[in-house]
Amino acid sequence: MSAARLAAGGGWRAAARGSGLLRVSPDGTEHVASTIFAEMSALALRTGAINLGQGFPDVDGPAWIAEAAVQAVRDGHNQYPPGPGIAELREAIADHQRRRYDLEVDPGTEVLVTTGATEALAAALLALVGPGDEVITLEPFYDSYGGVIGLTGARHVPVALVASPTGFRLDAAALRAAASPRTRLILINTPHNPTGAVLDADELAAIAQVATDCDAIVLTDEVYEHLTYGDSVHVPIATLPGMAGRTLTVSSSGKTFSFTGWKIGWIHGPAELITAVRTVKQFLTYVSGAPFQPAIARALADDDAPRELAASLAARRDLLCEGLAAAGFAVTVPQGTYFVVADGAPLGFPDGAELCRRLPELAGVVAIPMTAFCSEGSPANAALRSSLRFTFVKRPEVLEQAVDRLSRLPGA
Ligand SMILES: *Cc1c(COP(=O)(O)O)cnc(C)c1O
Repeated sequence: MSAARLAAGGGWRAAARGSGLLRVSPDGTEHVASTIFAEMSALALRTGAINLGQGFPDVDGPAWIAEAAVQAVRDGHNQYPPGPGIAELREAIADHQRRRYDLEVDPGTEVLVTTGATEALAAALLALVGPGDEVITLEPFYDSYGGVIGLTGARHVPVALVASPTGFRLDAAALRAAASPRTRLILINTPHNPTGAVLDADELAAIAQVATDCDAIVLTDEVYEHLTYGDSVHVPIATLPGMAGRTLTVSSSGKTFSFTGWKIGWIHGPAELITAVRTVKQFLTYVSGAPFQPAIARALADDDAPRELAASLAARRDLLCEGLAAAGFAVTVPQGTYFVVADGAPLGFPDGAELCRRLPELAGVVAIPMTAFCSEGSPANAALRSSLRFTFVKRPEVLEQAVDRLSRLPGA
């Protein structure tokens, strides 16, 4: 049997289609392209350009947290931990939610530790939606959303965030128009990657209203919960009146503590929904990262580490935003996350993907085109065609060098 024949079945095509990775060759055959993240990271390596594409820190998190993991290995936390996660970590998660947001969560039945937020999102979608259902997401969206929704067989209904003088904002009327009796789940992300938007009270209320009207579940990705700037405040949608009963809240230690490779995430919500998610999770990974769990339990009890990261990122955000603006980009200053959206149109580049491919040669910097986070042919895709995403979770001297290089762009 040919390899093509062997790969003809299964759900991977739906995942590739949902994440925009399925390409059709001129002869009509379909193949999976490599992700733009891999392509741009390879380009950075090949050209020696500064990689402001992929969003991972170039400095590890606090040494005392790393030491706690080392100690856990020495102390023998090296075999399968309990399926829902160790009690100490589930209690630390519940305590964090109570302390920070006044959310009451039962660590015994309402919390599940996962292999990063990625697995929490995948297990929740696989557990709760299927063919015939519709899943609303914001657009642009984190790339795993489209892939997993494709695997479930549900229909993906994206609603555009629209650029405005106060950053990217949700069009509540567009959200209401996208809702239908088939809307089973609304997947939101705040603070939002890639736009840097932090959903405000009105936007959250509009989402809560639509979810209630459709009797839909809200799945909320809050991995950047601690990374907000200025006056922006992160509000979990589960804190809105009546919403805790229909909301699954996802977060992760990767972004908060700068240990993205540890992959300790979690999800909490009503016990019935968590049981459904745990049922799927147990067949995906069974359990996750034994020695990292006690280390993250200790990290979560400490409010200083995330505060210090947010403060240092605020300065780096300003450095990169000012540099991009000086280079001639139209910059949307982010309220949260560690990404900034910059439009290359004022510099005479109407095609962001094309600019990203040329940026290493033009300025020695790598970014990601915003269309990588959009579905094909959508209004958001058209609106963001000339825009790029840059990350500022790099050391200040790296950002200074990038800004210096960008100032050499023609038209700057
Ligand atoms: C990084 C990221 C994730 C993945 O988190 P992990 O804990 O590494 O799996 C999920 N959602 C968004 C929006 C992210 O930026």
